[in-house]
Amino acid sequence: MENWLNKTSSKIKEKADIAIIGGSGLYSAEFLEDAKELLINTPYGAPSDAFTIGTLKGKKVAFLPRHGKGHRIPPHKINYRANIWAIKQLGAKWVLSVSAVGSLRTDVKPGDFIVPDQFIDFTKSREYTFFDGPRVAHVSMAYPFCESLRRKVVETARKLNINIHTKGTYVCIEGPRFSTFAESRIWKEVFKADIVGMTLVPEVNLACEMELCYATLAMITDYDVWAERPVTADEVERVMSENVKKAREILYNLIPELPENPEENGGCSCCRSLNTALL
Ligand SMILES: [Zn+2]
Repeated sequence: MENWLNKTSSKIKEKADIAIIGGSGLYSAEFLEDAKELLINTPYGAPSDAFTIGTLKGKKVAFLPRHGKGHRIPPHKINYRANIWAIKQLGAKWVLSVSAVGSLRTDVKPGDFIVPDQFIDFTKSREYTFFDGPRVAHVSMAYPFCESLRRKVVETARKLNINIHTKGTYVCIEGPRFSTFAESRIWKEVFKADIVGMTLVPEVNLACEMELCYATLAMITDYDVWAERPVTADEVERVMSENVKKAREILYNLIPELPENPEENGGCSCCRSLNTALL
């Protein structure tokens, strides 16, 4: 496929090799040096907030809080296309998305981390594609995440003795409400999924359309409603703040380890997703 992106791109002088999309609780990247804020406009409107662009041990990093600073934007109102478009314009090849999720498995405990390898989409009203016509593409979603990045994230967490599950299926619901008891039991018992959240879709498929190496670091905050264990706001807050501390540690140690060219890292085909897209 010809490079349609370059034709419509605006010129952005700042560049980054790695983009981090911060989820609930992770709104800033104070581990970056020489950080500055950058507002980017896109053909799809404004991203969730200004990007923070800085360096960490020689790597150029762009950080974006998915819900905006102060958690202003609910999951169904996030401008996913603007976010991913801007990341592509910054020249990033790696995208690590950090998200808070609920667990559907007893052994995936609050405070644990999981790097999903599959998802099931139960969202309803989002903008799912950059290919709205007349240009049409159907990218493969059989294996939606970058295996190379998933592996690096798991290795890093293990070195830090952080409890991390190497794979799992993420059910993405529309939100902003949580699941009913009946829904939660379907995700768990019928779909055999592992975690539930509200923001993975369409972030992951848009990243794939932009040929980015994308993975999600999911932080477990609670057992979803199937468990019938009432959780208090205090409890969730405590787990969240511990999770965010651990997520920062993972990022701090992972970022310097990512090679400039993803294809050097054991290989993945993310940067060629459009070559095999059905037109
Ligand atoms: Zn990849």
